[in-house]
Amino acid sequence: MNTQPSILLIYTGGTIGMVEDPATGQLKPFDFSHLHAQIPELNKLNVKLTCISVKQPIDSSNMDPQRWTEIADTIFENYNMHNGFVVLHGSDTMAYTASALSFMLLNINKPVIFTGSQLPIGTIRTDGKENILTAIEIAAARENGKPVVAEVCIYFEYKLFRGNRTSKISTTQFNAFSSSNYPLLAEAGVTIQYNHQAIQKITDKELTSFTGFDTNIAILRIYPGISPALIRHMLAAPGLKAAILETFGAGNMTTNDAVINELKSFIASGKSIVNITQCHTGAVEQGKYETSAKLNGIGVISGHDMTSEAALTKLMYCLGKNMGPNQVKWAFAENW
Ligand code: ASP
Repeated sequence: MNTQPSILLIYTGGTIGMVEDPATGQLKPFDFSHLHAQIPELNKLNVKLTCISVKQPIDSSNMDPQRWTEIADTIFENYNMHNGFVVLHGSDTMAYTASALSFMLLNINKPVIFTGSQLPIGTIRTDGKENILTAIEIAAARENGKPVVAEVCIYFEYKLFRGNRTSKISTTQFNAFSSSNYPLLAEAGVTIQYNHQAIQKITDKELTSFTGFDTNIAILRIYPGISPALIRHMLAAPGLKAAILETFGAGNMTTNDAVINELKSFIASGKSIVNITQCHTGAVEQGKYETSAKLNGIGVISGHDMTSEAALTKLMYCLGKNMGPNQVKWAFAENW
């Protein structure tokens, strides 16, 4: 009997599998056979590894909800056949995809570990090998017949993060991600130290998949001197159904009536506005300062301590389900 955990590795592209185009010197995605050939260790792992690749591997800057759906569908369709999933993905938009997948695949009770690298796998100092091998080990880790980690995560440079709590913070360091509002789920050294308290408890609810995300959302980063006219034009974009305000500190912004009135009319027309902070640590507390009290008054929804990536993708989910402001408010008050 084969007792090895079965892991599905899904290759979507990113620097990890890129090669340099000899004509231009630019890095571009290459097929999975190249990547596989560079890591003979994959055949030595104590897991039953199945590898698949999307039809066209991409630089993750070209990622979009259709491709998120392709990844989510692949996991959903293969869910019962494997113990865990590793997704190889470009680091640029990995936090968006991991956030999106965490909402697309609600009640997941198996590991989905995203990883990639800052240097291509064929280069001598690549960080890709360690990232892939440890991501597979984490996806395969089991205790008392159950997965140690049962949620959507990012593994990068010895750290395991909750996917929808993570942002890319560096273009140059191997330590490219942070999760400043949520503790690490694990740290890899000589052994892998799991932070069991921070890891999502295994649910016995059934996995549900919803991929009908609606992208009609504007992100409005507030800055000193932002004009009411700019806000009016952005909020008048055809088909726009919701906006995310990226505000200062604990959710504060100008109290200028002309600016507030633009937001007020948008909300009065049945559309949602969610408030998140530009700070990396801490949360929105609407009403703490006078400069956020007006937002409470006009029905702006607090995004609490969410990352921009998580707020955006959760809102795409809500709009895809045709939720109005009251339901969106409820959705953002709940931890999914
Ligand atoms: N541009 C690359 C991508 O996101 C960067 C990386 O993989 O690290 O696909």
